[in-house]
Amino acid sequence: MIIGVPVETTVGERRVALTPDAVKTLTGSGMEVHVEAGAGVEAGFDDAAYTAAGARIEADAAAIFAADCVVKVQPPGARPGGGHEVDALRKGALLVGFLRPLDEPELAARLASQGVTAFSMELMPRITRAQSMDALSSMSTIAGYRAVILAAGALPKIFPMMVTAAGTIQPARAFVIGAGVAGLQAIATARRLGAVVEGYDTRPAVREQVESLGARFVELDLETGDAEDAGGYAKAQSEAFYQRQREELGKRLAGSDVVITTALVPGQRAPLLIDEAAVQGMRPGSVIVDLAAEKGGNCACTDPERTIRAHGVYIIPGANLPSDIPANASQMYAKNLTTFLKHLAPEGEIVLDLEDEITRGAMLAHEGRITNERVATMAEGAKG
Ligand code: NAD
Repeated sequence: MIIGVPVETTVGERRVALTPDAVKTLTGSGMEVHVEAGAGVEAGFDDAAYTAAGARIEADAAAIFAADCVVKVQPPGARPGGGHEVDALRKGALLVGFLRPLDEPELAARLASQGVTAFSMELMPRITRAQSMDALSSMSTIAGYRAVILAAGALPKIFPMMVTAAGTIQPARAFVIGAGVAGLQAIATARRLGAVVEGYDTRPAVREQVESLGARFVELDLETGDAEDAGGYAKAQSEAFYQRQREELGKRLAGSDVVITTALVPGQRAPLLIDEAAVQGMRPGSVIVDLAAEKGGNCACTDPERTIRAHGVYIIPGANLPSDIPANASQMYAKNLTTFLKHLAPEGEIVLDLEDEITRGAMLAHEGRITNERVATMAEGAKG
């Protein structure tokens, strides 16, 4: 089986789907890997490193897309030189990557009609057996870390407490809203830098995790009721709930130097948790990093494209933060992909077991149709 690794052409994307180490693992399992020239450069992996790992470097993108299995970071799109990447995929070929199924159901439809078997890493079931293939968690880990580093860079204060001959500097106060994978990593990173950290989530189950990282769990006077679905994700709440939540959170933000928001509900616009009045109530020079920026933002003032200053507060959109740390993000992603590819092809050739929970769960399109029910319904709706 030939695996193709193209250059990522999405603007600003610096990750690569496979690292040289991952190539070594796959070639060791009997697969052949073709890498487009320069694919890993932004992430710190040059062509020579891929060659040394056993890959073939290919200058022609069309040849890479003609592989039996194409692995990508971003969804396929228009090539800078013309043509669309989906059209370059062979009928019956495999495509694995972040395919944004709930945001771009029309892409799923296009992949299905191209006859591609597509696997979307966002659909990977979050079960223990699939943990080493859970690329969403890997990327959220990097994003949570990076959010704190961005906040630390913008804040006109240091994070740790310092007792010096020139006086005592009080530690910064960080508040992390949404304590999923990214939020917990943000809490851990802010703690390591010496901030006093608080964490909050609608899912009461995370209290223990927040506290085990040395942060205080904030409880709001809200009736969350059924906060979590069977998959462990937050459930959408009513608009009245969000209104109350904004009011309660607004009261707490005034005391925070740094606020990191990570609250998401799968397939929905991100909940609006910080309104303009709450931003106004914060101290000048405080920083909000909004990791939900790409999904509409947790803060009403967030501009998804750029850092702005509103009422004296820096508001940083956390869009595609894993791409800011492309070496480690690619390393983790490549490990997730490699494990998944070996799951699909234990003997080096693809054997699709459609009864398998991981294979079936991650599958987006196969044999001309969208296999994920929710995405299929959305694609039908989009056709109108
Ligand atoms: P996510 O990115 O969908 O959401 C981030 C966080 O925002 C979640 O913790 C969610 O509860 C929170 N949130 C949503 N609405 C909110 C609101 N109005 N106010 C405050 N917080 C709000 O979630 P995620 O990080 O992908 O993780 C979701 C769950 O899946 C977690 O329980 C996580 O531990 C679990 N998980 C399990 C596995 C596994 O078992 N393999 C792997 C990864 C994650």
